[in-house]
Formats: sequence, C-alpha cells, structure tokens
Amino acid sequence: MESKKEKIYKGLAASKGISIGVPFVYRAEVPNYNVDISSPEDVFPEKEISDYESAVTHSVKELNKIFNLAKEKLEEKNLQIFEAQLSFLSDSFFHSKVKERISQECKPAYRVFKEEILILENAIVASKDEYIRERVNDIEDMKNRVLRNLLKGRLVSKITENSIVIARNLTPADTILFSNRNLLGIATDLGGVNSHVAIVSRSLKIPAVVAMHDISVSITSEDFLIIDGYKGIVVKNPTEETIASYREQVARNLEFENRLMELEKLPSETKDGKAIRLSTNLEFNNEVDFVVTHFGCDVGLYRTEHLFMEEGEFPSEEEQYKQYRFLAERLYPGIVTIRTFDLGGDKILPDAQKELNPFLGWRGIRITLDKKDVFLSQLRAILRASAAGNVKIMFPMISGIEEVKKTLDILEEAKAQLRAEEIRFDEDMKVGIMIEIPSAVILADELGKMVDYFSIGTNDLVQYTLAVDRDSSLVSDMYEKFHPAVLRMISMIVKSAEKNNIPVSVCGEMASDPYASLLLIGMGVSELSVESLSYLRIKRLIRLVNYVNASEIAENVLRMSLISEVKEYIAECFNKNIGEKLNETLYV
Ligand code: PEP
Ligand code: MG
Repeated sequence: MESKKEKIYKGLAASKGISIGVPFVYRAEVPNYNVDISSPEDVFPEKEISDYESAVTHSVKELNKIFNLAKEKLEEKNLQIFEAQLSFLSDSFFHSKVKERISQECKPAYRVFKEEILILENAIVASKDEYIRERVNDIEDMKNRVLRNLLKGRLVSKITENSIVIARNLTPADTILFSNRNLLGIATDLGGVNSHVAIVSRSLKIPAVVAMHDISVSITSEDFLIIDGYKGIVVKNPTEETIASYREQVARNLEFENRLMELEKLPSETKDGKAIRLSTNLEFNNEVDFVVTHFGCDVGLYRTEHLFMEEGEFPSEEEQYKQYRFLAERLYPGIVTIRTFDLGGDKILPDAQKELNPFLGWRGIRITLDKKDVFLSQLRAILRASAAGNVKIMFPMISGIEEVKKTLDILEEAKAQLRAEEIRFDEDMKVGIMIEIPSAVILADELGKMVDYFSIGTNDLVQYTLAVDRDSSLVSDMYEKFHPAVLRMISMIVKSAEKNNIPVSVCGEMASDPYASLLLIGMGVSELSVESLSYLRIKRLIRLVNYVNASEIAENVLRMSLISEVKEYIAECFNKNIGEKLNETLYV
C-alpha cells in the first residue's frame, strides 16, 4: 500500500458517510464474456448446472415480464421477438445438451452455453430463408440476457463481503442486490445525486459518490480506497496519515450522531413555537424498526416500486396487503403514506421497455392507469391495509385533471368491490397527489379541490422545470434546487394548497437539505418528509430556526433572480440566524 501514490478523484456526494476498504470493480454494462472469471479448479459441474438453470429461469421470468408490459404498448408483429426468445428458452433439447457438456467437459456453464449458441447461430446464418437468418439478432439478445444473468449471479457472489463497489453505473435493483453482501461503499462513473441509485444508497446507509467520470477504469482490485460521501471524493491508495485522519473523522461523526440522538424525543418545532411535521421516507422494511424506536414519526413517502424491483414483477394483491398491513400496524399510531407504483424513468429494469427519454415516457401513474388490473390490485391492497392503522394514499407523476379523475374513479371502483365483498377499509382514508410536474403546478388551484393533500416531489420538479435529467452526470451542475424558477414553483404550490385549505408536504430530497428546508419552512410548507439519515439533522435545524425569520428569508429569496444570489443570501442568513456554518456541524 505504501509504495503506491495517493490519488484523489472528485465527483458528487450522493450518500453521506465514509468507508475505507478494498474495491470490487463491477463491470456489468459491458460484461466481458471472454474473461474467464473462474480457474479450472473452480469449476464444480453440479454448481455450474444449477447456476445455468437459475439463469435460464430468471431470463424467462424477465422476458415474460417484458412481454406482458410490451403487450400493452406494442403491435402484434413486434411481439414476435419476445415470443421467439421465450420459445427458444423453453427448448429442453438445447438445455440438456449444454448441461451434458458441462458435466462431461467440466467447463463453466457460460463457456459451454456460448459455444452451443455459436453453433446454432452458424446454422441459422447458413439458412436460405431470409426470415430465419434475421432471427440471429433475437438469439443474440437472448444469449446476452442469459449470460448476464449467469455472470451477474457469479459476480455478485464473488463480491467479497465488506468491499467498495466501483462501477460505471448501477441500477437501483443492482444496489439492492449488492447490499446483501455487506457493501461498504459505492462509487460510480455516472449518475446524479437525486438518481434513484443515490436515494437507495442513502436509504441503505451506504456511503456513495457518483459522477466520478472514469473511476471504473482507474481502479483495480489491487488498490485500497476511501470513499468520502460528504465531500464526494474517492481517495485511491491513501497514505497512512490520510487513513488516520479519516478514521478520526469517522469517530467525530459518530460522536455528532450520538449527540443528535438527544433530539429523538424532543418536539419538531421552531424556536418561536411553530410545529413543523417531520416525517421520514421509507424504502425498505429493515428501516422500520429503527424509525419506530428512534423517531416515532410518520412515513411521508413509502415508495412501493421497490416491491417490484426486488422481485422483478408486480407483487400480488395478497403479497402487497401483507406488506402494507405490516407497515400500518408497525407504525401505528403513526401514519404511513403509501405511494402507488412509480415505475419507469430509472426505476424499471433496464431493458424492460426501451424509450429514448424514459423520464418523459411511460412512468408513474401513466403505467398504472394503462394497467388497470395491476392498479386495482394495488389499490385494494392499500385500502385493506387502511383498516389496520393510519394509511394515506398518494399518486405519483400527476400531470393534469383528467388523470386525477381517472385515478379517483378507479379508486372508487376498488372501494365498491371491497364493500360488495364486505371487506373492511378506512372510508376516510386521505388521498393525495404528488406535485412534481410543472403542469400540475399551474393547475394546482384546481387539483387542490380534488384531493386531501399535496406532496411536492422536488427531485422530479427540479428536473422537469429545468429540463435537466436528474440522472445525468453531464448536466449535474445544472440540476439546481435553488434555481429561482424552482423556488417560485414551490411557492405557487404552497399558495394553491392554502387557498384550498389542504396541507402540503415536501417529500423530495430537498427537504433533507438544511439550507433548503429553512426556505421550505419559511414558504409555509407544513410537513417535511426526509430520508432517515437526515431526520435528526433536520429536526435540529427546525429547533434552531425562528419561523418569523424563516418567512422573511423566504420572502426575500422569492424576489431574487440569480441562483448565486439565492445561495449566498441563504448561507449568510444561516450563519446569522442559526449561528453556525453549515459544514461545521450539520453535515460532518
Ligand atoms: C420526487 O420526485 O421528489 C420524489 C419524491 O419521488 P421519486 O424520487 O421517487 O421520483
Ligand atoms: Mg418523483
């Protein structure tokens, strides 16, 4: 370690925390199938055969899911691609041949599979029939899927416990999968701080840095790393002094976290006595106990799409009911706000439905309105769970009045079904919508008449207002929550909510930023739903703030036209009103 030179790489801080350890370089996007990841003595035919069978089963499952999604959207003739791949995957003669060769030749499954596919492709290419010759592309697609699944399983199981994953990019599903191996940290070439991978990392409390440009090719398994999720840097082969100073910082952070715990039972109110509802966002069940015991707060956003991402398919009504009821009961008397599936964008498995602009495509409420059966079963599950505790429902990606009308009609249909079946649910369950698309902001006065509350999704509101992809590292410096247009949008939403006498919360990541939450409170937002990592930090901020001052600060900011002006002014007010510099305590 001493002989290597220390080098610092800079990116964006995506999930707070520091990790020190060895890297695992994950190259999923461009898997190099020619690299033999197992030496001959590593080959255990029985294991290879069982891995092969799992990879095929998994591929069939994926293809079926894509096929079902595609059925809604594609013409009959385009569906043939999937049918052809599915029928190939059920060719037991082919699979027997692969398995037989694995046992006889003692070779890894992926090599035998590749060789057998090549034989098949050569036969197809030699065909006189043009239609048959064209099928080579389908075979190629299917081959890559099986290989990916085969190698992914092997790669994941090869991730040494307690290592730092370095990758070009990760999907939220990858992150969840890897987290089972006690991930220490994550660094990726691509991604933005509000991408769902970053959100999932924060939720799993894994330090992460993104937008590192070419970190995935600059690090090898021989290196030693520090991930600094506060500053957004990776230190390659740190010196002993650097390691010691980071270890000291880890100890300081721990001490600060411990001090924050004194706030657990104190009310969330400003210095001048204004109560601000503080709730938390929730992704995974393993956070629930912590939230209940330490915070005892409501859940302002439960993202249900994780149920889909973990399984790769829509969970049944019963599976969902079990999960939602568990949350309602565990959080009782707290409230759980269950958001219906917000799939699409970066939250669908990568090749499920290719779109050039997935964030402007088939996403959120658009998918559930198109797939009425899926929607009805989710609504029924949520309604049924509402009998077991305090449940609110929330709809994502609302862009207009018709969508809300259609959504509420389907909700009524679900209620009518349950009444007919004499199944209990909370007749007064509150219904809210996310305001995260500019058209919904413009229509907020009218939308406010149709629902019980608004929740502002700033992660998307910023990207759609500024036309800046939340996931892209190329434009990440333009993704700016302090943009005057964004701030004025938020103020418009709050005013519309006030006019309609309904509460408005913010559940986007902006609520977890101390500077921004100062402004949100000042603008009149009544609830902040923050990621659990930031819960006590934000409570601390609320208790240090004077509501009257915060309102004045917000009023002044809303008159400003420059991002820089806004940022400088808030930093200055922060020092003056709260008496501290942000970096000194709230983050580190
Ligand atoms: C948001 O857009 O701010 C939000 C909370 O939803 P998601 O991050 O899941 O899109
Ligand atoms: Mg959103």
